[in-house]
Amino acid sequence: MRSISIFGATGSVGEQTVDLLLRAGGANAFRVVALTGGRNVARLAEMARELRAEIAICADDAGLAELRERLAGSGVAAAAGAGAIAEAADRPADWVMSAIVGAAGLVPGFRALRHGRTLALANKESLVTAGPLLMTEAAAHGARILPVDSEHSAIFQALVGEDIGAVERIILTASGGALRDWPLEALARATVQEAMAHPNWAMGQRITIDSASMFNKALEVIETREFFGIAPEQIEVILHPESLIHSMVGFRDGAIMAHMGAPDMRHSIGYALNWPDRQALPVARLDLAQIATLTFRAPDLARYPALRLARVVMARRGLAGAAFNAAKEVALDHFLAGGIGFMDMSGVVETALEALDAELGDEKTNICLEDVLAMDHLARVRAGEVARGMAGER
Ligand code: NDP
Repeated sequence: MRSISIFGATGSVGEQTVDLLLRAGGANAFRVVALTGGRNVARLAEMARELRAEIAICADDAGLAELRERLAGSGVAAAAGAGAIAEAADRPADWVMSAIVGAAGLVPGFRALRHGRTLALANKESLVTAGPLLMTEAAAHGARILPVDSEHSAIFQALVGEDIGAVERIILTASGGALRDWPLEALARATVQEAMAHPNWAMGQRITIDSASMFNKALEVIETREFFGIAPEQIEVILHPESLIHSMVGFRDGAIMAHMGAPDMRHSIGYALNWPDRQALPVARLDLAQIATLTFRAPDLARYPALRLARVVMARRGLAGAAFNAAKEVALDHFLAGGIGFMDMSGVVETALEALDAELGDEKTNICLEDVLAMDHLARVRAGEVARGMAGER
């Protein structure tokens, strides 16, 4: 029986993973080892009971008493805190889903790789902040990383049986997010609610707003560079409002392989779960005659400054990815709290990166996990200062 752990089980990706496990037989088909959540203790306990997990862990110590109470008599152990979540990655499991949101997902994924596990990676922040480290760790311990981000799963699938040396370019598709058709000058006034109205994908709050600002796509560009080991200039982004092509690979003979499907994360989660097989998945089938038209357009960098910043980060490497991601998370927190405007987020990130310039190192800098975590902390402090300064000016 295959053993499975899910980090971030109560989130959007986590829930869809649990859904696929339940449809495939749940506790009768899989041995569920660890399930982790953040604040949603009630849901965590519910799924841990249903899947008969060995242990359920919530991020917040304050939730432990409630978690214990909800699991009483179930045989599921309970624990809390970031340390307990990281330790859960040491428990033997054949397949580990990394679906915690943000930099908090880095350490558990890293520990799972150290044990040679197969890591289904939704937490793109891991590759953005510590790409070379993660890939080296995976290679050193015979671990495998399977991409779960729909774009990267699409590219991964388009590359099956292909020589990476024959790849000319990778074309990431982007929906453009909720505000893609707004006049440029109106974007500064966009509210959280308006940025949350994603046209195609139902996702967690943070990634949905990151889609509207294209910070999400910026992370994905960096993720592509790190995961597939391809040069930054070979990575393109194209707006594709229908979100039916999940990404494309262009080869040196001019052929383009595109991966199509309904915008449903269970495609890529299911592919990673069943890899290298394909199993039936409960996703909508495309009616191409009904769709009739697919459209594309070039992204406007004035509207999406995050895409320009991704190029800066890739050119620099070193700790630039860790600083970029942390500053972006802080900028998003301040936008969510109403302190800064939608277009101020990129300003916060750019100013924080400039302030940290001397500490970022470069491609040749020898970096360990502690350096990444230290830069994550430092960039949060700097970005917080910048964001508070901007909020004061408003
Ligand atoms: P959600 O916000 O829906 O869920 C995040 C999960 O992480 C929840 O289980 C949450 O717990 C938990 N969590 C939050 N903060 C912490 C913390 N500090 N420590 C431990 N656990 C924590 O996120 P998504 O599912 O949308 O995204 C997860 C990851 O997958 C992200 O990296 C995202 O970029 C990536 N991704 C998501 C896609 C999507 O469709 N949603 C698509 C592609 C990639 P709780 O809810 O209990 O508080």
